[in-house]
Amino acid sequence: MTAQDLPAWMPLSVFIWIVQMIAYHGFGLWFEWLDRNGRLADYKVRPVDSWTYAQVLPRVLLNQVFILLPAMVLVEKAGLAFVGPAHITPLMFIVGLIGMTIGHDLVQYVSHAWILHRPTLMRTLGHSVHHSTTASRSISACFMSPMDFLMEIAAPYLLPLIAITAIGSAGSDLVFHIFAVSAGAFGGLYEHSGYDFSVKLAKSDNALARFVASRISSKAHAEHHSRGNVSYSDGFGSSNICDTVFKTRWDLVKPRERQRRSAQEQEA
Ligand SMILES: [Zn+2]
Ligand SMILES: [Zn+2]
Repeated sequence: MTAQDLPAWMPLSVFIWIVQMIAYHGFGLWFEWLDRNGRLADYKVRPVDSWTYAQVLPRVLLNQVFILLPAMVLVEKAGLAFVGPAHITPLMFIVGLIGMTIGHDLVQYVSHAWILHRPTLMRTLGHSVHHSTTASRSISACFMSPMDFLMEIAAPYLLPLIAITAIGSAGSDLVFHIFAVSAGAFGGLYEHSGYDFSVKLAKSDNALARFVASRISSKAHAEHHSRGNVSYSDGFGSSNICDTVFKTRWDLVKPRERQRRSAQEQEA
């Protein structure tokens, strides 16, 4: 199947949006099921968010339907993405994924660290809405004000996609688009799920196992939610280049005095 096989009334951007919704809400329901059944409880490292699934869902859907979907359709109508070859070469596939990862990190970091977290803009642009959650209910990944969603979700996805389309990647290749949105959805949901699948590997004596653990940990974004001033990149699946370059990665920033004292008290 290629994009040309889609019915005339179904633009590629709409089809990929539907795939994204199935991935997002499918993984979201799976994490919710884990929470309710206590499965994989050994990996649940944070208490579940006081915001319930039913409270979070409407705002998430509003963002996805009224911001993400129109933005994707507009980009296609403008001929900037979701257009071009039906199949891209393996090299262009890899170039595209690297471009998406780095581009996502750049756009998201500028939006998140330099604009949304500005004390004067935190409430104006509504990033405080997302910070009312504790990164322990997976679908809260898109629980945001409309402006926040546009700057932190839609733009970091679509701007790099436009850039890689311009150099001959992505095109209208279904496999590429489906992989990109599914992986992106899983990353965001996992980071906000309160699960950390690295906890057992991290205790291993094997250096390789500990390296894998560091790559699959969800700690970075959890630290962002609890400390507020660290790890602005999406930790899991992200290159984290900006957090490393600007030294805002959680393990590079000392905890504030008050937090350090309360952590020490808890350990004592
Ligand atoms: Zn934030
Ligand atoms: Zn978050």
